[in-house]
Amino acid sequence: MAFRALVLHEAGGKVSSRLETVDEDKLPEGEVTVAIDYSTLNYKDGMILQGQGRLVRAYPHVPGIDFAGTVVTSQSSAYRPGDHVVLTGWRVGELQWGGYAEKARVKADYLVPLPKGLTTRQAMAIGTAGFTAMLAVIALEKHGLGIGSEVLVTGATGGVGSTAIALLSSLGHRVVASSGRAELKGYLQGLGAAEVIHRSVLATPPARPLDRERWDGAIDAVGGVTLATILTQLKYRASVAACGLAGGSDLPATVIPFLLRGVNLLGIDSVMCPKDLRAEAWRRLARDLPLDRLDRMIEEIPLSQVGGLAPRILGGQLRGRTVIDVHR
Ligand code: NDP
Repeated sequence: MAFRALVLHEAGGKVSSRLETVDEDKLPEGEVTVAIDYSTLNYKDGMILQGQGRLVRAYPHVPGIDFAGTVVTSQSSAYRPGDHVVLTGWRVGELQWGGYAEKARVKADYLVPLPKGLTTRQAMAIGTAGFTAMLAVIALEKHGLGIGSEVLVTGATGGVGSTAIALLSSLGHRVVASSGRAELKGYLQGLGAAEVIHRSVLATPPARPLDRERWDGAIDAVGGVTLATILTQLKYRASVAACGLAGGSDLPATVIPFLLRGVNLLGIDSVMCPKDLRAEAWRRLARDLPLDRLDRMIEEIPLSQVGGLAPRILGGQLRGRTVIDVHR
């Protein structure tokens, strides 16, 4: 059976995309075939659509690093036709065909059952970015984040940042959002930010190895000087969860905050995240993320429009989460 997909082609080092009808026998090997309802646009999808970072090694390629849908056929006892499932990570959409299509085929181990209480659309409104935010919250909690803490979230209007704000505030923390877009202050407050600061405040190289102790915890989607500055401002024994590199992949820091304040730099990887932690994170998302706030983050677009949005997500011009209806 044929299905519709967004297919990337490479010619002369340039990557272009077009909607095509693809035969099901072209799908990669895997135990479970899924009829996809929704996928999403993440920062990494933007890179793949633009042919950046050598993330894709073989063309033609179907991108889309996450999807949610319904099992059509399964050679695994873990899933039956009709089961609703979610996929994030495992380098699907990079090393093998992904979610910008009406069908996908993957290993059963890559899938997570759709958490109770969420629709496939809501699961994709969360998607890779929201799942990453949840992993960051769990990591901070495991490193001692207490109730009612003051937590900094950078890259605040993005997918990771928006979900992190909604989660942390609903868990009773005081969230300070760092954003480059003053015009979106109302949006950030609506998600639960108690205070909004301009990202430039954190983007000047720290003058001293230790600054005033300010944060009980932080979730950073930006990296670079921003992450280095956060390290100098963490309170004694506090932690920052490093999720992203929207502002740079370098880290111009000193070891002094680790030695004199015992702070922790926690790495967050959503891609190869172990199965138990994945299940815990989805359980927590279904329980702790207020769905009315999730609704405020979503823009839904048809698959036919996703190519045009790639430069905008890489330029930090989108807001919240972009959900893709693969049937339109
Ligand atoms: P988005 O593009 O949705 O959000 C990124 C946000 O970062 C923007 O909205 C903007 O927020 C801010 N930003 C953009 N450019 C800059 C800049 N030059 N300097 C400082 N801030 C900037 O991306 P996501 O939220 O989906 O992802 C955020 C980061 O996390 C990305 O680097 C992504 O690759 C990474 N990531 C990592 C994962 C992991 O497993 N570790 C999984 C998912 C994402 P504002 O305008 O409010 O400042």
